[in-house]
Amino acid sequence: MKLSRFSMSVEPYAAGEQPRGKRFVKLNTNENPYPPAPECAKAIKSFDADRLKLYPGIAARELREAIAEKENVGVDCVFVGNGSDEVLSLAFRALFDPHGEPVVFPSVTYSFYPVFCSMYGINTATVENEADFTVAVEKLTDGQGAVIANPNAPTSLPIDLDDIETLLSRMGERPVIVDEAYIDFARRTRSAVPLLKRYDNLVVVKTFSKSYSLAGIRCGYMIAGPETVAALERVRDCFNSYPVDSLCQAVCTAAIKATGYHEASVQKVVETRTRVMKILRTAGYEVLESDTNFLLVSGGERDYLKLKDRGVLVRWFSAERVRGYTRVSVGSDEEMDVYLRALLK
Ligand code: PMP
Repeated sequence: MKLSRFSMSVEPYAAGEQPRGKRFVKLNTNENPYPPAPECAKAIKSFDADRLKLYPGIAARELREAIAEKENVGVDCVFVGNGSDEVLSLAFRALFDPHGEPVVFPSVTYSFYPVFCSMYGINTATVENEADFTVAVEKLTDGQGAVIANPNAPTSLPIDLDDIETLLSRMGERPVIVDEAYIDFARRTRSAVPLLKRYDNLVVVKTFSKSYSLAGIRCGYMIAGPETVAALERVRDCFNSYPVDSLCQAVCTAAIKATGYHEASVQKVVETRTRVMKILRTAGYEVLESDTNFLLVSGGERDYLKLKDRGVLVRWFSAERVRGYTRVSVGSDEEMDVYLRALLK
């Protein structure tokens, strides 16, 4: 059968391996080692399967209200989607024009951004990260919009909120997407959401996959001005009007209300991160100071292969600037001990 030129030539995003069979300690996709809040299990148990005969509420009202309350914004500032990857994809489509000025992002950042752009015919320009991998955000201003991940991935490094504010003000009306997938693990930067009061070119994207331990349910959200939310709703309705199913809405509503559990689970990951970072540095590895639930550790492909051979999966990227490192998700203390033994023996 003849297939489209696009599907034959596109270079899709490569997600981390999902092994079947052999049991690995899985530290390659930045999942949370702890279970979601007990309230999520309760929400599943009390969910009436009869509801599944109907389409889910298109407005996801209860979930959006719970997010709005947590983020201290109006409910018309919240857009939800099937994972933050989908939210980002719709945001790229809704905010940026194809074949025009480039959208600008750092050269070392989340590798899905160029994929969205190539899918939609959006031109891109990248700005080299500094020698220490930090992002000089003032260099991102020469395009139709800018995209940053804060903290950045896979570097694990934070971006200062003052620098983000400078970027927002220099960009004027042009959109700035701040991808905050890992923000809850950050201790040296904060969420940009409060800046929305002063900058309506700001778009913040978050996820339930990491700090809420809900990677399997697929839910992410955007906080932005009501007109931006309405634009994403129009674009969403050109793909799929119901990306967030009823069960997902119930589970994520329960998760976001369980604030005490969320904070405690994040704190455990942060403490393990600090412990493992110290051990690795003492053993002579270079480890970037992390504000996320993963560590960028010197070593590269050899360590990736050695660890895989010893039953531990980490992520290795072949891109030039990061090929000398592995990205290691922060698992439970027990998992990290297995990792350390496998790496150091
Ligand atoms: N942004 C960044 C920076 C990420 O690392 C990820 C996870 N791969 C995502 C967004 C997407 O997460 P999800 O689609 O699970 O919400």
